[in-house]
This record gives sequence, structure tokens and C-alpha cells, in this order.
Amino acid sequence: MYCRYCGKEVKEKSIVCSGCGRPVDEPGSVTGTPVIGWSVGLLLAFMIASLFFPPFGLFVGIKGLFSEATKVKASVLLTVSTLLALFWIAIILGL
Ligand SMILES: [Zn+2]
Repeated sequence: MYCRYCGKEVKEKSIVCSGCGRPVDEPGSVTGTPVIGWSVGLLLAFMIASLFFPPFGLFVGIKGLFSEATKVKASVLLTVSTLLALFWIAIILGL
């Protein structure tokens, strides 16, 4: 294979290029992994957040319904929480 920085031929097992001294790595092995790690982490964070959102949203939403000032926000919160709860029930039941 060839160094992707200077183009000099380097041995398969070498870690550093003998021409320019930069690390030799397979294309995608370094740049690919963090991207996958990021999206998986974000997805996990979103899943955990959406799992804990419904109980919180229902609690705050029902509380907010009793006040005229927060009534609209509370109903939106209740709708989103209910949809998320249904989404999780559907996943847990395997639908
Ligand atoms: Zn090089």
C-alpha cells in the first residue's frame, strides 16, 4: 500500500510512513469509527431521553392543565408524551 499523505510505498505492517513520518492507517479505520460512535451515542441518548420523557411530560402536562396560562403548552406536552408512550409500548410489545 501507499502512504496517503506523501504517496511513498509503505509496508503493510508498518505503523509510521518512512517517507514523511505520519501514521499509516487503513482508509476509514480512523475517520469511520468516531462517526459511527457519535451517531450510536446520539441515538442512545435520544432513546433514553424519549423513554424518560413520557412520565415527566404527563406529570407536568396534567399539572399545567389546571392553569390558564400554561394550558396550551400543557396540552402539547401531553400529546407528545402520549405519542412517545405509545411508541415505546409498541416497541416493547414488538408491534
Ligand atoms: Zn508518507
